[in-house]
Amino acid sequence: MTLDPIATVRSCFGGKFGIPRQPGLCPSAWGSLVFHPAYRSEEAIRGIEGFSHLWLIFGFHETVEQGWKPTVRPPRLGGNQRIGVFASRSTFRPNGLGLSLVRLEGVDRTAVEGPILKLAGLDLLDGTPIFDVKPYLPYAEALPEAAGGFAAEALVRLPVEVEPAAAEAFGALSTRARAVVQEALSLDPRPATQLADPARIFGTSLCGCNVRFTVRDGICRIIEIQPVGVP
Ligand code: SAH
Repeated sequence: MTLDPIATVRSCFGGKFGIPRQPGLCPSAWGSLVFHPAYRSEEAIRGIEGFSHLWLIFGFHETVEQGWKPTVRPPRLGGNQRIGVFASRSTFRPNGLGLSLVRLEGVDRTAVEGPILKLAGLDLLDGTPIFDVKPYLPYAEALPEAAGGFAAEALVRLPVEVEPAAAEAFGALSTRARAVVQEALSLDPRPATQLADPARIFGTSLCGCNVRFTVRDGICRIIEIQPVGVP
């Protein structure tokens, strides 16, 4: 099989760092799925609006060239315990394919780009290639009794505060962009190896802004928001 992308996602996440590690964790995150010309067909999406959630099969296009190893160190285990790549959702895997369950907010019917799927809660980088779209089937796929392995425990979220220096820029964001910033940073995107230094400043690209933050005393503090005008 040779796979060709059918679509590209535009998303509020302009860089890999700071993207939630699974879909749904940042419910306000937004994106659009723009079909490539050969698939811009109203027929091909007939019935899709009856579904609230879709599975996306996509390519980890930014990291695929780094290859894979049989074991990985998931952030959920503090980054120091190894488990098998096939027991993980690591981005570094043999075929570089990702799988995300996202919310379908609606379909935008455009003259230039055909039907565009409006998505929420995604964990995808802007520009991610999509290989397939399938509806989520709650009658078969909702399994509340399922065992969650090493990722079974609920996530701990950090409180997020906006420092005075960033307050004006934060206030100028849309309500939804403010929610994305808060939800994404509450997940503590810092790499497990860099938790020790409270003075360290991290930067992430969210909703067209460079957002700089530190984590001190268990609180994520936004110190600067600089609009750069991308997604
Ligand atoms: N839900 C998916 C993704 C899990 S890994 C799955 O289980 O397969 C999630 C991480 O993938 C994010 O934190 C982000 O940094 C990274 N990511 C998202 N889109 C990417 C892309 N196009 N290329 C490389 N990495 C990407």
